[in-house]
Amino acid sequence: MREIDVSVVTQTVKELCIKANRVLPQDMCECIKRGAAAEKSPVGKSVFDDILDNLKAAEQETLPICQDTGMAVIFMDIGQDVHFVGGDLEEAVNAGVSAGYTDGLLRKSVVSDPLERVNTGDNTPAVLHIRIVAGESVKIVCAPKGFGSENMSQLKMMTPSVTREEIVDYVVNVCAQAGSNPCPPIVIGVGIGGDFEKCAYLAKKALCRPVSQRNPKPLYAELEQQILDKINKLGIGPQGFGGTQTCLAVNIEQAPTHIAGLPVSVNVGCHVTRHAEAEI
Ligand code: SF4
Repeated sequence: MREIDVSVVTQTVKELCIKANRVLPQDMCECIKRGAAAEKSPVGKSVFDDILDNLKAAEQETLPICQDTGMAVIFMDIGQDVHFVGGDLEEAVNAGVSAGYTDGLLRKSVVSDPLERVNTGDNTPAVLHIRIVAGESVKIVCAPKGFGSENMSQLKMMTPSVTREEIVDYVVNVCAQAGSNPCPPIVIGVGIGGDFEKCAYLAKKALCRPVSQRNPKPLYAELEQQILDKINKLGIGPQGFGGTQTCLAVNIEQAPTHIAGLPVSVNVGCHVTRHAEAEI
């Protein structure tokens, strides 16, 4: 049994919140550059140039990439041979979010109650997903989620009689409805299977997968490509000014489901689809 003091968790979460908001993953930057090269519209190309300038400025000036620094979504894969000491784990995670958003001068966007709407003042609490895995280490992924894109996300409880074409059309239609709201070029996380809440979780997880990495099952990799091609025919373009590069990548995650169901969820990510990870 390995003991980990929760102060290490707090420090790690703090650093990840700051890093994720200032520096995009390398593969996401490369994907944006490829999108810029492929964009046919001159206005769309100039939007890509602005996006790339903004990424450089954020890193050099240690500023957030976007003013919406998001709600902190934290995924923790905890080895079953780990024993946390020194305090409560969830409190430690939230202390890390609080410190990261305060010391990193990141916008605090969380309200304590959805109807009363009073800002908590430190961007807590985080949305925390915990999974127990084999081993004695802990993997932490921090994925700050802006709500311009989150608000455009949808879930549908389909039935097994649905065709693949209908699944593709549903996902593409979610993107058509979203239009310029999620700050395109977008990244789309799709969850297929599970039950209602697992399906939404899968779509969020999918947004944390490298955009250059296709689903290992050819069936789903083909679906990813098919959806991507169709979204890019919508003509929404970078920031909605028209163009050929509306979507940079489609990532699908699938899971076993019930014989009577086929849930499909679409988590829309913007051009600032951020995440940073660490292992302790
Ligand atoms: S959708 Fe993304 S790019 Fe647009 S404001 Fe929100 S975080 Fe920023």
